[in-house]
Amino acid sequence: MYVSHFIGGEAYAGKTARSGPVFNPSTGEKSYDLSYADRALVDHAVQVAARAGKLWGDTSQARRLGVMFRMRELLIANTDKLAELVGVENGKTIADAKGEIGRALEAIEYATSAAEVTKGEYSRNVGGGIDVFSIREPVGVVACIAPFNFPVMVPMMMACMALAVGNAVIVKPSEKVPAATFMLGQLWKEAGLPDGVWNAVNGDKEVVDALLEHPLVPVISFVGSTPVGEYIYQRGSSFNKRVAAYTGGKNHMIVMPDADLEEAASAFVSAGYGSASQRCMAISLLLPVGQETADRLIEILIPKIRGLHMGAYNDPKADFGAVVSAESRQQVLAAMHKAVEDGATVLVDRHHEVAGQTGFYVGASLLDHVRPDMDIYRHEVFGPVRGIVRVADLDEAIRITNDHEFGNGAVIYTRSGPAAHRFVAEVKAGMIGVNVAVPVPVGHHNFGGLRRSKFGDAHMFGPDAARFYTDAKTVSQRWAGVEATQTVSMAFPSNG
Ligand code: NAD
Repeated sequence: MYVSHFIGGEAYAGKTARSGPVFNPSTGEKSYDLSYADRALVDHAVQVAARAGKLWGDTSQARRLGVMFRMRELLIANTDKLAELVGVENGKTIADAKGEIGRALEAIEYATSAAEVTKGEYSRNVGGGIDVFSIREPVGVVACIAPFNFPVMVPMMMACMALAVGNAVIVKPSEKVPAATFMLGQLWKEAGLPDGVWNAVNGDKEVVDALLEHPLVPVISFVGSTPVGEYIYQRGSSFNKRVAAYTGGKNHMIVMPDADLEEAASAFVSAGYGSASQRCMAISLLLPVGQETADRLIEILIPKIRGLHMGAYNDPKADFGAVVSAESRQQVLAAMHKAVEDGATVLVDRHHEVAGQTGFYVGASLLDHVRPDMDIYRHEVFGPVRGIVRVADLDEAIRITNDHEFGNGAVIYTRSGPAAHRFVAEVKAGMIGVNVAVPVPVGHHNFGGLRRSKFGDAHMFGPDAARFYTDAKTVSQRWAGVEATQTVSMAFPSNG
């Protein structure tokens, strides 16, 4: 497979000194060596983007919209090819990969409303014949730094609105899954996006630092882990850049005694183990309210988790695939062993079933009696080991959920309107589900967590994205002859 940087509408053919391996998690084999950009190459990409972005920003809204519509059709037509690239580099199943491509379509569809969400305001004759109007302009070049777990959806969610309002983008995909971003560059070109408006540079921290420091990159979108997001937010802000960083999660699912327990158990298994639990919105912790609810839920859960099929990305029977890397597998297993040392009890441990395989598989596991003082409770575990925290009542469930450092998603399963209403009012999470286990909003609603699941107060997806990717200007204008005055006045201008 040939994957390179994508700059100025074409693959970058030159060589750089650094590279890194890209693996196929399903087999554990190295697929190829990926060339990493250096500072000089990042600078070249930014200069190309800045020139192309200027022309693109001056292109009519109608022509920009036409590209968005064509890209939507191309994404649909190329779903199978893209899903294959996602599966082979990320390890998720083809069905799961197609799911994320479907959500990427929402990003394009919503971006077609760019003209509507950026249109300005106008106030006539606010005083002395002066009219005031506001306009929003593209910022120029936007850097989009993406994680490994959604190789199509996240770059597209970041880039579509940035492009639609007239910017050029430089995408820095995760160095573990660069192929999908490379192919997206080819599709954007086919859709008619001018060369240099979508660019991709590959690499690690060195590339990210070069983007954070570059004077021609005023806006940074980041999705990834909390420590890296915090660094990117602080470093980018120190250069007076606008940064939105969406980071880690530890999503709690509360199950009330009145809930439909079959439904809740199925939802927990899908949302907890789907994608080998490598989703920021995965349910990590199950909080049954009352001992009886816990015991009944566990009885339903155990056979469901034992029935899950772990397999290669292209195994049609697989419910989920391998985790992304050998290092990630080690971290997940270490987190599980530590939890057991700390006093959690094992209800299901299927790791022995995958132990000898070369692929980066982790068996589906479930722990009971997890407590908030345990590491497994506090830290995000990006692999299929999930925990149960037993709580006495809704008060305790909400308190525990709100005490966690992360506030990405939180979910309640109940048949009680008042309990749900109270949960929505009191829980401190950015995305809340009521009998919905993965409450990722549709493209025209804001997406993003609270507390240490998000840095920066801007939203980069949904309606606020158009503001994030544009600068506001407010113009006060008066034309000679309309109440113009030729006398000197030293007082502060008033509109009276
Ligand atoms: P990561 O933080 O390791 O990497 C994300 C990006 O940052 C990659 O492009 C990587 O190359 C770069 N990077 C890594 N280390 C860096 C460093 N020290 N300095 C500068 N850049 C660096 O994240 P990941 O493992 O690829 O993705 C998983 C994480 O992403 C999880 O924590 C998950 O919760 C989070 N995530 C969050 C959301 C959300 O919307 N909140 C969505 C998807 C994933």
